[in-house]
Amino acid sequence: MSTVDADVEVTDAREARVGDMTVRRLLPLRLRRSVGAWCFVDHYGPMSVDGVAGMLVPPHPHIGLQTVTWLLAGNVLHRDSLGSEQMIRPGQLNLMTAGRGIAHAEESPAEHDPSLHGVQLWVALPDADRQVAPAFEHHAELPGATLGGFAITVFMGDLAGARSPATAFSAIVGAELAASGHARASLPLDAGFEHIVFVAAGAAQVGDTELRPGQLLYLGPGRDRAQVAAPSGSRLFLLGGVPLGEPLLMWWNFVARTPEEIAAAVTGWREDRFGAVGGYRGEPLPAPPFDAALLQRPRL
Ligand code: MN
Repeated sequence: MSTVDADVEVTDAREARVGDMTVRRLLPLRLRRSVGAWCFVDHYGPMSVDGVAGMLVPPHPHIGLQTVTWLLAGNVLHRDSLGSEQMIRPGQLNLMTAGRGIAHAEESPAEHDPSLHGVQLWVALPDADRQVAPAFEHHAELPGATLGGFAITVFMGDLAGARSPATAFSAIVGAELAASGHARASLPLDAGFEHIVFVAAGAAQVGDTELRPGQLLYLGPGRDRAQVAAPSGSRLFLLGGVPLGEPLLMWWNFVARTPEEIAAAVTGWREDRFGAVGGYRGEPLPAPPFDAALLQRPRL
């Protein structure tokens, strides 16, 4: 980790396992649990899934968050306990609002594309909205903008004049930037937001900071521009939002505020109270061993 100045920092991803896949986990960080309401960032691939099962994430529960599924290559099938069944492809958004509780499975379909590359993101629900009814939405078409050679697709919030239709519960932005030719842009930011930038393919320069895949750049609030450059073919993500200002307790697939809420969700999953995910061949994921006494209450 190298610190460029007080409110610009670069951290390295850690490796994590999701099913059979190795992923780059960029968020949460030990000292930074969320950026805006973004509280979880996994980047996986690009990888060949030709002739193999590919992604296989069995049914598992969520509370207190939205999952944002975004692909750069390949296709993934989503199923959930509301009865949703939705294939997703690059440039589309699967947004699942867990609210008070939902279960879902994500897998490469039997007939799938030979490569897979994507990100799995979580957005924490603000305290006032944590108990909303679970919901799922798919957006096949999303608004875009072109700026300095970047093709920008906005999947949450708004950026550069494009606004996503996706349901958000806090002031937030999420966008993919694809460089065609050598791209260089002065990206307009909301000065009330904090932001992160990461590279999924290629490389990028943000201000004076060079970024490669597996690194996360944090930009503190108070800036209304970011100077971003990237060589042809690079794919970048910009995520941001108003600092949440709420302590988050994250354990397994749950985002809560107290150990008691986590314990109740674990019990609910063990007692089958999240509802069944239809159509998935295989067993649901068991909750790992849970000891509320080991979970410290979160602090801001
Ligand atoms: Mn999930």
